[in-house]
Amino acid sequence: MDYFPLFLDLRSRPVLLVGGGAVASRKLALLLEAGAHVTVVAPALGEALSSPPLAGRFAWREARFEPAMVGGQRLVVAATGDRAVNAEVAAACERAGLPVNVVDDPELSSAIVPAIVDRSPLVIAISSAGTAPMLARLVREKLETAIDESFGALARVLARARRRIVAALPDAAARRRFYGDALAGPVASLVRAGRESEADAALERALVASSPASDATAPARGRVLLVGAGPGDPGLLTLRALRAIQEADVVVHDGLVSDGVLALVRRDARRIPVAKQGGGAQVPQAEIDARLVALAREGLTVVRLKGGDPFVFGRGAEELRVLRAAGIPYEVVPGITAAVGAAAYAGIPLTDRGNAAGARLLTARRADDAAGDGLAAHGAGDDTLAIYMGRARLRDSARTLLRAGRPAATPVALVEHATRPQQRVLTSTLGELAAGPPDPGLAGPTIMIVGEAAALAAELHWFAGAPQPLAVAAGRAPLERAS
Ligand code: SAH
Repeated sequence: MDYFPLFLDLRSRPVLLVGGGAVASRKLALLLEAGAHVTVVAPALGEALSSPPLAGRFAWREARFEPAMVGGQRLVVAATGDRAVNAEVAAACERAGLPVNVVDDPELSSAIVPAIVDRSPLVIAISSAGTAPMLARLVREKLETAIDESFGALARVLARARRRIVAALPDAAARRRFYGDALAGPVASLVRAGRESEADAALERALVASSPASDATAPARGRVLLVGAGPGDPGLLTLRALRAIQEADVVVHDGLVSDGVLALVRRDARRIPVAKQGGGAQVPQAEIDARLVALAREGLTVVRLKGGDPFVFGRGAEELRVLRAAGIPYEVVPGITAAVGAAAYAGIPLTDRGNAAGARLLTARRADDAAGDGLAAHGAGDDTLAIYMGRARLRDSARTLLRAGRPAATPVALVEHATRPQQRVLTSTLGELAAGPPDPGLAGPTIMIVGEAAALAAELHWFAGAPQPLAVAAGRAPLERAS
């Protein structure tokens, strides 16, 4: 080991920072965060040190560095960019027996500042002993994604209870088990849900239940995470969704969840597909509900993974009601819904200024409702309409919108397999679709985007193939665009 890892308490302690430029400003910000009283030595201050948020938060000695200045300091940082001055600082510290960090110069440094992941009070420091800062940075990025922001709050919850935990569980192995259970179960869930005081209470309850004096049985730790997988491109997962599928014991997923996303699921997690895409066998909803409850009752972390966003035509509410009734804790992780993913990857700004005042997420399925045709209510106005589940009803949807008042020339973009490598964007108009065959033969999941903004795909497309007229794709001559 080249360096001894150590965390310094610098609260209200004097620290000398030599240099007044941009490099010094980055170290200054970090030192101030640690509560140090910083004196900056520099003949002049650069832009960053003389403007907010740093200006005025340190003492400035308007001078060149002199060795006597290191007296009384806890730590010295040299950031002058002038190696001769930096070497002078390092030599003065060496004589005084003081740790010195010379920025980007491990040879002159007796202390190095690691890359950090800050989830205070939890702080992770990574160092390559100055040999490969890029590698340390890479490791840091990996940890940044793996250790979510809730870890700081979790550390606070544990700190508050620490003495009581030690008193109640004097045996170290019992304590380890307790921490393991608490961190995998409801305490961590509550912290992630932003309910820190309830997490305190849950920890106390778990402590009472687990103390040797108590005969209460430990509470079940199972829970369900309802997670949006986005429209297909795994890059569109949220960090939270990624963490969820990597900590899941079991993943219950839809047919719409792409292979690319499924490839990121923890390797030894069980996978349960519950619906086939495109009208194949579909597990009845009641059966899915019962399965989720049973798996959580086994104490498992269950991820219910859905295409797009779980609350957009995702039956999210139905499943959550069942879980709530069964007393199973749950969390919801949003995903990029198909309309938003398709719009971005097809080059269609859903609320383009001048073209559309708003956008609506609709489903063609409402046509079956006893209440009447749900689409008709959205025929007027110039809002962009994003119509889900409409592949087999393109003609009906177009006719309904025409009857309800949309002009025949209204542009339509059909985005099939949005955000996936096979994405196709087919352009048409309401008039053309209404006059065409009932089903133009699209095979993959398709979203229908209606409105002037849909025409912008021709100009703004960037992903996969360029938009193609629907009629051409279907082997017919395109109709004249009606005026
Ligand atoms: N919860 C999902 C929607 C489920 S309904 C979401 O938020 O996206 C299923 C419909 O979503 C499909 O019929 C199709 O219209 C649309 N859809 C889902 N993924 C799609 C994709 N990759 N490309 C185009 N449409 C998609």
